[in-house]
Amino acid sequence: MNSPLGSSGVPLSAQLFDRASLVTPGGVNSPVRAFGAVGGVPRFIREARGCWLVDVDGNRYVDLICSWGPMILGHAHPAVVEAVRETAVHGLSFGAPTEGEVLLAEEIVRRVAPVEQVRLVNSGTEATMSAVRLVRGFTNRNKIIKFAGCYHGHVDSLLADAGSGVATFALPTSPGVTGAQASDTIVLPYNDLNAVREAFAQHPGEIAGIITEAAAGNMGAVPPLPGFNAGLKQLCHDNGALLIMDEVMTGFRVSNAGWYGIDQVAGDLYTFGKVMSGGLPAAAFGGRRDVMSHLAPLGAVYQAGTLSGNPVAVAAGLATLRNATDEVYQALRRNHAALRELLADAFDTVGIPHRVQSAASMVSVFFTEHSVQDYAQVKASETWRYPAFFHALLDRGVYAPPSAFEAWFVSAALDDEAFDVIANAIPAAAEAAAASSPPETLKA
Ligand SMILES: *Cc1c(COP(=O)(O)O)cnc(C)c1O
Repeated sequence: MNSPLGSSGVPLSAQLFDRASLVTPGGVNSPVRAFGAVGGVPRFIREARGCWLVDVDGNRYVDLICSWGPMILGHAHPAVVEAVRETAVHGLSFGAPTEGEVLLAEEIVRRVAPVEQVRLVNSGTEATMSAVRLVRGFTNRNKIIKFAGCYHGHVDSLLADAGSGVATFALPTSPGVTGAQASDTIVLPYNDLNAVREAFAQHPGEIAGIITEAAAGNMGAVPPLPGFNAGLKQLCHDNGALLIMDEVMTGFRVSNAGWYGIDQVAGDLYTFGKVMSGGLPAAAFGGRRDVMSHLAPLGAVYQAGTLSGNPVAVAAGLATLRNATDEVYQALRRNHAALRELLADAFDTVGIPHRVQSAASMVSVFFTEHSVQDYAQVKASETWRYPAFFHALLDRGVYAPPSAFEAWFVSAALDDEAFDVIANAIPAAAEAAAASSPPETLKA
């Protein structure tokens, strides 16, 4: 393609990464982008359309990350771009309410039955932080239960044993989180209702709520076992605590009503992000009206944001949701199934232990013989096979997550050409995974 190597013969991505590393910690604005777990130079992206990413050196990739979830329609979807353009020419931010905020809130409330009211914020992190503050304010209790391997953004109290980048870089929690914050967080194994029951018994009247990914996607795709979410709801109800369903990843991706559309277990509060803002920074939390009415200006729990409900971000979100039709959700399921089959066939052929595991249309590759139900089992898998697998895909034009601890995301825009590229790349990548050997420290 155009844009050859820089004049020095060094790829432009490598040149930019060097410059970025001088002025930005690790050269990136979010840790997993740095390729730390797989090695090599992160690709700097110039543009994207549909299911294709193009880097600054002109390399083209099939995108199986979708900006970590949001881009279900594919990149630069004409209706979304037009909505953004149309909105932007009328002004970028007013610090006063707009019609778009009403329309987006109505769209969310219409899709997810347990959500009666929403408040818009700027990131998933803000949504979970605010939801946790609200359940504490509502219940007058301090402790929160979270599950190991679940990621709820970089909220201080929720970083303990977190998934996503925290898992990728093997951090138990983060320096800078105070002992008080950590001690108010009870971390339990995912999919273990008995552990939750015991925690309530050990801390009577102290637990404000449970926050859980409606289906875990930040330790790879680990769906809740049948009855797990319903059991959480029951235990919260029995103990005067609230259930926060974090649907920042699953919301409006796995069905038109998110994971709620799949298992119908109603949380008291919900958090959304990613798909609902179509690639611009916006997110939301919402749920029961009687709980939400404890927020300022109606109630005493404070929460605010200069750019919250930003008109351009709201326009992108609304256009994305309005174009996320039944056909789009069918395409996501179809594309997920096709990808899953290609992966499983290739690993069968090379004969290495594997589980290609799904949570609805999110999928992950685990190098293990066992089904994976919690974070301990994720960590026990042969994650050292992943870097060779990842780079073999990237070399062949397939952009998968640069970490074994992440879900893969399909878009509805994946086309026949993209699947040809994927089908060509995966067998070679499976061979690379089979040929890789464990790090010295793991050898006998
Ligand atoms: C991505 C994610 C978040 C954090 O959202 P940001 O917009 O990155 O702050 C929170 N919860 C879940 C389940 C997520 O997947």
